Amino acid sequence: MMPENADWIIRGGRVVLDEETCDLDIVVRGGVIAEFTRSPERYSLPVFDVQGMTVMPGMIDVHVHFNEPGREDWEGFETGSAALAAGGCTTYVDMPLNSLPPTVRVSLLEQKAALAGQKSVVDYAFWGGLVPQNLEDIEGLSEAGVVGFKAFMSSPGTQEEGDFQRVDDDALLRGMRLIARTGKILMLHAEDEQMVSALTADKRRRGRVGIRDYLQSRPPEAERIAVRKALHYARLTSCRLHFAHVSWAETVAEIDRAKQEGLDVTLETCPHYLILTEDDAERIGPVAKCAPPLRSRENRERLWALLAEGRIDMISSDHSPCPPSMKIAPGGDMFDVWGGIAAGQSSYELILDEGHIRRGLPLPDIARWVAYNPAKRLGFLPRKGRIAPGYDADLVVVNFAHSYTLRAEDLYDRHRQSPYIGRRLSCRIEATLNRGRVVYRRPDGIVGGAGGQWIKPGCTAGREGGVQRS
Ligand SMILES: [Zn+2]
Repeated sequence: MMPENADWIIRGGRVVLDEETCDLDIVVRGGVIAEFTRSPERYSLPVFDVQGMTVMPGMIDVHVHFNEPGREDWEGFETGSAALAAGGCTTYVDMPLNSLPPTVRVSLLEQKAALAGQKSVVDYAFWGGLVPQNLEDIEGLSEAGVVGFKAFMSSPGTQEEGDFQRVDDDALLRGMRLIARTGKILMLHAEDEQMVSALTADKRRRGRVGIRDYLQSRPPEAERIAVRKALHYARLTSCRLHFAHVSWAETVAEIDRAKQEGLDVTLETCPHYLILTEDDAERIGPVAKCAPPLRSRENRERLWALLAEGRIDMISSDHSPCPPSMKIAPGGDMFDVWGGIAAGQSSYELILDEGHIRRGLPLPDIARWVAYNPAKRLGFLPRKGRIAPGYDADLVVVNFAHSYTLRAEDLYDRHRQSPYIGRRLSCRIEATLNRGRVVYRRPDGIVGGAGGQWIKPGCTAGREGGVQRS
């Protein structure tokens, strides 16, 4: 088995297509899905035997923080992309923060892309930042190939000199007018700054700094207020929107009404809002601190219902790591702990375990939430996001007969601080192929090395040797 090979016949698997699951063999040539066949003996290609396994499209994780350059000690492209590869992700989109400097100018985008090109195990793309100081850089960043822009309506966690800045209403509105002209989307971290900062100050003044206090300082209403404001600005500017990590069912309903109204808006949620609750935040502690925070059990159940109804467009990890020292709360002050869950490697397995095995959601639906809808929204069709002829051979081999308990040593990210360590998972990713290259395979582990490509919106399918032509 040669990992660098990009020609295969992937034989004997149950293949998850757009609407159904079929027993098919997949012919891969030059890293691209050439065709399906039921007569594999007609091909003289190396065989990748997946008997008894399920083959799914690779995840497109639209939301990760690899923090390079500047904060390599938090994560980095090498470890971060290895973790995603082991988790069945074949393309990820890196956030403009918490790298330092953040990705707010073309030169900084190019600097970051060069690092990813040297280190990334799987394909990658980038969000540009929208901050009050870079309105004149929006057009250039768009032309340089960002998938869209990311802005914070509340303060980001990092506050060093040169760090990413939140937008006030003026910068948000002006930025949305500029982004609308590029045709790209604006991804928003939507929590209302006034509400969150006032509630945080109130808690701290009264010495109330436990995990419950932190949860109460970022109530679901803060999310709804910010979302309503952004939707109003979208009506004024025609800027296409995407809401990051939506945590509350009522917010999903709010965004759904805007879709009915005709606004061009999508949203993602994350595995932690679908799996963990505020009780888990208390039980697990700092490792499960994130923003927006974990919510009630009732809310979690409503999110699953909304997902099944097709009202949540996609699932992203929001992999947001930090050094272990930043996950320690001196004196129990949870406000001082880094807010971010680092579990990007487990997204696919968690959703398959909880969504498919426990809740019976169909595999084609799950494939839509983790692959097709992200590809469609980011402009990666007709190249990525489906198992179909002409698409890149971004494939994940899943073993539903293998359950295991996640251990820290199973993880490939730099700091292995997943809140799911110790959790029983009733399926396992056996192998991941990116454009036909085997990048991960059990029991060998990461076998592909660096070889990811920068994927830009509007790129055409890599029919000629998987080469990007945009
Ligand atoms: Zn994030």
